[in-house]
Formats: sequence, C-alpha cells, structure tokens
Amino acid sequence: MDIFEEIQPLKRHIKKAKFEGKTIGFVPTMGALHEGHLSLIRASKKSNDLTVCSIYVNPTQFNNSEDLEKYPKTLDNDLNLLEEEGCEIVFCPNDQSMYNGQNGKLEFKFGHLESTMEGKFRPGHFNGVALIVSKFFNILQPDKAYFGQKDLQQFLVIEQVVKNLYFDLELVCIPILRESNGLAMSSRNMRIALEDKEKALLFYKALIEAKRLIMNKVSVAETKLRVEELFKGYESVQLEYFHIVDGDTLEEKHEIRAESSEKVAFCIAGYVGQVRLIDNMFLN
Ligand code: AMP
Repeated sequence: MDIFEEIQPLKRHIKKAKFEGKTIGFVPTMGALHEGHLSLIRASKKSNDLTVCSIYVNPTQFNNSEDLEKYPKTLDNDLNLLEEEGCEIVFCPNDQSMYNGQNGKLEFKFGHLESTMEGKFRPGHFNGVALIVSKFFNILQPDKAYFGQKDLQQFLVIEQVVKNLYFDLELVCIPILRESNGLAMSSRNMRIALEDKEKALLFYKALIEAKRLIMNKVSVAETKLRVEELFKGYESVQLEYFHIVDGDTLEEKHEIRAESSEKVAFCIAGYVGQVRLIDNMFLN
C-alpha cells in the first residue's frame, strides 16, 4: 500500500498508473474507519484497478470548532484496515497542503440543497465539502468516486458539483451499513456514552416507524407528529429535524400516494448526549 502526504508525488503516481491504462476508484473519508467505510473500499476494488482512499478531517466543513477538535483520529488503525482490504493508495494530507493558507476563498451555492437539513444546521458545511471534494477530484482524476447514502444530502451536493464543473467521473452511492441492532455505523458512534447507546437507536426506530406509517396511508403531517412524539421524555436525546422529502431534490413532501413509485426519503438528525447523529431511509 502506498501512502502519500504530499500532492505532487501522488499526482505523479496517478499519472503513471493512468498512462498504464489503470482505472482509479476514489473513496474520500475523514478516517476513524469502520465497516461502512470499508464497504465503499470493497465496492471500489471490485470495479477499478487501483483504489485511493483519502483520510482527511477537512476543517472548512466544520462550523463547530469543538466538533472538529473532538473528531476521532485513529490513523494507525485506519491504515491497518485499509491494508487488510487491499487498498492500493492512501492519501493523508495536512491542512497546509490542501489549503496553502487559502481557506474560504472559493464559494459554491446549491440553493435549496444547502439551505435545508444539514445545510441549515451546519452553515457553510456543504461549501467546505464541495471545495475539498473538488480539490481531490482534480488531484486524483478518478474514474469513479464512492460516497455513502448515509450522507444523502452530501451525495446530492456532490452530484451538482460533478455536473456543473464537468468532472469526468462516475459517482457511486453505497447503501448504509448498520450495526446488527440497526444503528447506522458512524465514526461518531465511538463517542456515544455507554449508557446512551440504547437511546441512539431511537433515530433508526423513528425511521422504521415513519416508513410503516406512510405505507399504512397515515398522512405526512401525522407521521411527523408521531415521530416527534417518540423523542419526547428523553433527557439526553434531542431531535434536531425529521423530514420527509423527495430523494433527489430534498423538497418537502406534503402528501405521498401509497401506490406511487416516487423516490421518497426520510431524513433525521439529532443529539445523543453531545454526539450528533444523522440517518435516513428510502420509502422504497
Ligand atoms: P466520513 O468519514 O464520515 O466522511 O465518511 C466517508 C464516506 O463513508 C462518506 O461517503 C459516508 O457517506 C460513508 N459512510 C459513512 N458511514 C457509512 C455507513 N454506515 N455505511 C455506508 N457508508 C458510510
């Protein structure tokens, strides 16, 4: 496994591989890797000659400095996991090489896609994501890039970036990997206090319940109320938002016809103790 911290040697390595006709799959991560991340690596390895995994906690996508500071860092373990998976290239740059003192000079606008849900609660987040992912795409020139449905809104934002900037690559969205109890795997889960683990399941249970209600023709408004009810009475669990949206545009759904084949997504976010969790599920 080749590990790069600097851009130029990595670019040379990629250029040589491309010249030899090799295809490149790219999996961007912020490290603290778990099975969810590894499912992206496996998908990439299946369809590309070389897989590049980046490990970089991008400061411009954090609007909360404490969240950035507390973001788990487990580089040695991450490298072991990637080696075991047969990942060929790891890129773990530092802030100086990724930004060169130029934080925040480029701005993206995504309209509704960035003013709702994560964009609303984490101002500037998607600008930071779009910026860093564009940099990675330019450096690596991947044939395919792999992202998780876990961050559905992020995937839709990246789709806009690829479309608008004519990046010549295919985006692949990988389903959410869950613990056996249903909790969506996340690097943040390791920060959940032992006594709160059970309560963290509430987010998953709320999605399942919402899906059940909608499938039983309960209205969108009533479903939302019932989900909000589920969170009442818990001290350490706080619902930030629950939305029922179009799975492509994230526009709010006000009614859903049971027999329709519309792409409907249930999206949820909130806190368990100090830890912020997000999750989502498609109706079909
Ligand atoms: P992160 O390190 O949190 O930025 O995640 C890196 C990539 O892994 C993103 O595209 C995430 O959507 C994806 N990912 C995170 N958690 C999961 C999961 N539980 N299942 C599948 N993909 C995931």
